[in-house]
Amino acid sequence: MNCLETRESLSAYVDGEFSPDRAAEVAEHLSSCEECAREYESVLTTVRTLRDELVRHRAPDVLRARVRTALREAQLAPPARLMPTPRRAWRIPWHVVAAALVVAVASSGITLLARGGRSSDSALADEVLTSHIRSLMPQHLTDIHSSDQHNVKPWFNGRLDFSPTVPRLEEQGFPLLGGRIDYVHGRPVAVAVYGRRQHVINVFSWPVDPDRDAAPAPEARHGYNLQRWRRDGIEYWAVSDLNAAELRQFAALLSESGKVGAGVAPTAPAPK
Ligand SMILES: [Zn+2]
Repeated sequence: MNCLETRESLSAYVDGEFSPDRAAEVAEHLSSCEECAREYESVLTTVRTLRDELVRHRAPDVLRARVRTALREAQLAPPARLMPTPRRAWRIPWHVVAAALVVAVASSGITLLARGGRSSDSALADEVLTSHIRSLMPQHLTDIHSSDQHNVKPWFNGRLDFSPTVPRLEEQGFPLLGGRIDYVHGRPVAVAVYGRRQHVINVFSWPVDPDRDAAPAPEARHGYNLQRWRRDGIEYWAVSDLNAAELRQFAALLSESGKVGAGVAPTAPAPK
């Protein structure tokens, strides 16, 4: 069993859904692979927190926002006289519910942490990291799966009120994997997903005060590396279990491509 298979199996493994043989395969990989073992610890922590905390906390605004968006998307889906797609029928509840539960728990934790005197930046980092971990669970990584920025960038049109930076970095060793909408601080944000060998890099972005550009700054948290920067009114967070040096290189490439006049040429809006 390789790293990718192991990571895709972690949540089922944690939930005890595997046959003994299959579970043994996962366990064997975890005992020999430090990175996957770390990932396993993160999933385990998230699941435990979920079990311990969920019943005690009311659903926060972010949960309601996520459900509202899903309902809106469902209403925008083709009418019933077209054959309803089974995928759409089941995908919304599971995707939304699973993600919303984790976000609900993460938000609860953040509230507690904030009361403990930690800065809002630290809470933000925790929230971005939780979203990163959640995205590694099966079927959560991308809403649009494509290695072509001309597919991924227009996909965000109409889903967000800004246009995220999605440059092509494949030649530099960071292939684009796709994109998705996620939620940070209760609002929808863009996530561009890149790869580096078996590592996943999530790039979160959302609009901020345009007068406060900042160069990429590193942060390490719970065994993960983060890079955060601001450019031209957009705040970016890159998160991965990739080593700090390569993530810094990635952030520098992305940050440079985000300069006005650099990077990807504008693309036509997606057909309505
Ligand atoms: Zn591994």
